[in-house]
Amino acid sequence: MSALNELSAHELSDLFRKREASAREALAATYARIEEAEGEVGCYLLLSREVAEEQAQSVDERRARGEELPPLAGVPLALKDIFCTKGIETTCGSKILRGFVPPYDADVVERCREHGLVLVGKTNMDEFAMGSSTENSAFQVTRNPWDLERVPGGSSGGSAAAVAAATAIVAMGTDTGGSIRQPASFCGVVGLKPTYGRVSRYGVVAFASSLDQVGPITKDVRDCALMMNVLAGHDGRDSTSIEAPVPDYTEGLEGGVKGLRVGLVKELMGYQGVGVDREVGEAIRAAVARLAELGAECGEASLPHLNYSIPVYYIIAPAEASSNLARYDGVQYGYRTPAESGDDIVEMYRRTRDEGFGAEVKRRIMLGTYALSAGYYDAYYVKASRVRSLIRRDFDEAFEQYDVLVGPTSPTVAFRLGEKTEDPISMYLSDVCTIPVNMGGLPGMSIPCGFSGGGLPIGLQLVGKPLGEETLLRAAYAFEQSTDFHRRRAHPIAERNGVRSAVGRERG
Ligand code: GLN
Repeated sequence: MSALNELSAHELSDLFRKREASAREALAATYARIEEAEGEVGCYLLLSREVAEEQAQSVDERRARGEELPPLAGVPLALKDIFCTKGIETTCGSKILRGFVPPYDADVVERCREHGLVLVGKTNMDEFAMGSSTENSAFQVTRNPWDLERVPGGSSGGSAAAVAAATAIVAMGTDTGGSIRQPASFCGVVGLKPTYGRVSRYGVVAFASSLDQVGPITKDVRDCALMMNVLAGHDGRDSTSIEAPVPDYTEGLEGGVKGLRVGLVKELMGYQGVGVDREVGEAIRAAVARLAELGAECGEASLPHLNYSIPVYYIIAPAEASSNLARYDGVQYGYRTPAESGDDIVEMYRRTRDEGFGAEVKRRIMLGTYALSAGYYDAYYVKASRVRSLIRRDFDEAFEQYDVLVGPTSPTVAFRLGEKTEDPISMYLSDVCTIPVNMGGLPGMSIPCGFSGGGLPIGLQLVGKPLGEETLLRAAYAFEQSTDFHRRRAHPIAERNGVRSAVGRERG
């Protein structure tokens, strides 16, 4: 049998229920793997081992007493360091939040605790979730477990790499323009960005509030559905939280795709739009052919305004960020640059922000402040908001014809460390397939759909109607069950010697 940390959450949950494994054993296997792999991969900013051991012990004791526990009780979980965790440092990948210990839990963290998930640690990320490679972290590099010379994607790169490296069973990320789906794609795991408002943003460090959404990163689609059962639901503390009833996301998983109308978005496939790598394009076409074999009615869809997504995003997201990040002044949170004699308070703010924020964050604050300034607001922010409506309308029209839209999650496989750090625009362009979905507030998902010749994972993106998560999960599950991509595992340590590229192997 595989080591416990290699299993999916639902496999582990079955073992727990049959008393064939305990939460403490699963946690021990996870930390053993961390000891082996973390030095190379670098997923975690902080390990919360004491808290985790207490949680695992309490789950085991409750189970021993015969209590009926939720399905994911005892499952080791990794949290992106953007989620406020009571009593546990939360940095959001930024020096300016160093030493910030939140006095409360995010809504989703409360939910995870109630469901008995065990908090392994907080994962690395791009500073304030701004980036696509996790290289904007103020603290450390995270490497792609499939190829240690490559990025894990971002901004939730630590979470995706942890699931791929089996140093966590499930993980959580946030997605403002692709930060769950793109790292999931680069690391060969499953990631879901729910409908805007489906999951509470309370206690999640804000980046661009009209786009931010929380979601799971998992080894397979069933685990993703189980995590949605934990995370989704109304929260009065988030004014954009949706009041719709929450289904059991596992219920319809096996319904199949017969008659499901699937549209391949042509602009995402290189037609007057995104330039897609040949191998990625081929894998996506093969995936659509597979869905058709399974009974889906596949055709071509069009989103004519897709090309404006990146420029619109880089007005709206920095504008909102410049406002959200105004609160970091060296007084209320974390880091402060001490004043020198003769400094007034404004000078203290200035020094703190100058030293506390990294280059990309400063770039966004300047872009956003400019776009919102008097005289430019109409030309930039208002105009961008109008174009955003056009993109949203494109989706509405496409969904008159289709139930699910598909395309690549990313135009390329994982790129090399350092490849795009000197050129912000090329980094921005790597999100061209995911950003439009945030513009529409729609649910989007990435699942493994193939490998490049060099052995790097390729992700298929599925996009649904508002609150269409169940349809996405059903389509994703049907595809996954007819393939074996999700069974391959990255093993950076064992196969590292001599092999710099493909390091997958079948799961035994
Ligand atoms: N890469 C995009 C950015 O840098 C999206 C990040 C995200 O989704 N948080 O803004």
